[in-house]
Amino acid sequence: MQATIITLGEELLSGQTVNTNLAHIAQALKSIGIETRRAVTIGDSEPMIQTELKRLDTPLIILTGGLGPTHDDLTKEGVCRYYGLPLVLHHESLSRIRNYFAKLGKDMADSNTKQAYFPADAIILPNRFGTAPGAIFEAEERTIVLLPGPPSEMQPMFVQVLDYLQGRFSTDPRHEAGYLLVGIGESDMESKLQAFYAEHADVDVASYANLAEIRYLFKSDNPEALEKAMDAFRLIADRYIVGPHDKTLEQRVVETLMHQEKTISFAESCTAGLAAGRLVNVPDASKVFRESYVLYDNASKMKQLGVHGTVIERFGAVSDACVYELAYHLAQRTDCDIALSISGIAGPSGGTAVKPVGTVYFGVHHEGKTKTRHKVFSGDRQMIRHKAVVHGLYLVLKALMHEDTD
Ligand code: ATP
Ligand code: MG
Repeated sequence: MQATIITLGEELLSGQTVNTNLAHIAQALKSIGIETRRAVTIGDSEPMIQTELKRLDTPLIILTGGLGPTHDDLTKEGVCRYYGLPLVLHHESLSRIRNYFAKLGKDMADSNTKQAYFPADAIILPNRFGTAPGAIFEAEERTIVLLPGPPSEMQPMFVQVLDYLQGRFSTDPRHEAGYLLVGIGESDMESKLQAFYAEHADVDVASYANLAEIRYLFKSDNPEALEKAMDAFRLIADRYIVGPHDKTLEQRVVETLMHQEKTISFAESCTAGLAAGRLVNVPDASKVFRESYVLYDNASKMKQLGVHGTVIERFGAVSDACVYELAYHLAQRTDCDIALSISGIAGPSGGTAVKPVGTVYFGVHHEGKTKTRHKVFSGDRQMIRHKAVVHGLYLVLKALMHEDTD
């Protein structure tokens, strides 16, 4: 089963609004085995709507936007005129819209009346969070779905659309699974996978790399082939795997800490709070997160966490010795179970021949031992800082799991 998605709105074309409706709908359709064959964004224009309807080549079409009360909201009118479907008043919708305003202590404007007109045998989708109802109807052997533009209205209504589509066109979604990897670049990973690709040709593999993280996604019609591929991949990439593809790194860190009933603290220099910020993306972070020190200059590293002046003098703040002391003292000071320190050169200046821009040192104190690591990351200042956070959380997770890292 294939679908076309048409998102309407001038603000989408100008880039003022990010087209989240497309992502939401395409993902939801995929989850019930419906593939989006084409997605287009057009302005609120009837000729444009007609052009798109003329070249339709899928049995299902979903349109969002342009169901409002004003003259430039013309999606429903444009679609129905194209298919020659007369619009008739849907009394229940009209009273719902009236009620919507009554609850706000307002009278309904005449212009809202047009939102209650639909093709005679349409299924009406009530809108609990706005005035524009949506609709599902048939025309020329196609199923047409109309939905309002605001995501807060569209998304709850789409639940009902999914139920309907599932009942009507239910197909088995392809089996799908995957991993999230950290600690290795995409090209290094690819070269490890040549034999794997040849042996598992019945599984489609896609990789998505983003700032020191890579997601590998495996799809197959055959669940056993998929499982075999997943096992083989794990053997090759074990030390880089941090979890399933649909979880975030910070979720994995928080859930592992919770599971082990442990707490964590950070001492951050070049990342200056980014690690803490990332961890608290997870709603349960308060159960495991103690504190984070932002120790940006050398004096504060000495004053707050007792780094020795001689360490800074002899090795510099970006060194094994400095992150070792930071992680060790952090663990004592905050009484946490695992402590992570990060100190590096985010650039653009400050690099040397020995420690180029992008060099970042990490200290992890866990179960009475302090280990240090370092990496050289590519990219601009912000990319280096983000990659450092990802790598630091990776080292934490692997330490908690008692697994090796490079
Ligand atoms: P309204 O009654 O609010 O006019 P409508 O169905 O006519 O509803 P639009 O006018 O197309 O919807 O869009 C209203 C607002 O919804 C836009 O300003 C935009 O902020 C948001 N919106 C519309 N389409 C999308 C989309 N595809 N992705 C994200 N947001 C969207
Ligand atoms: Mg509108």
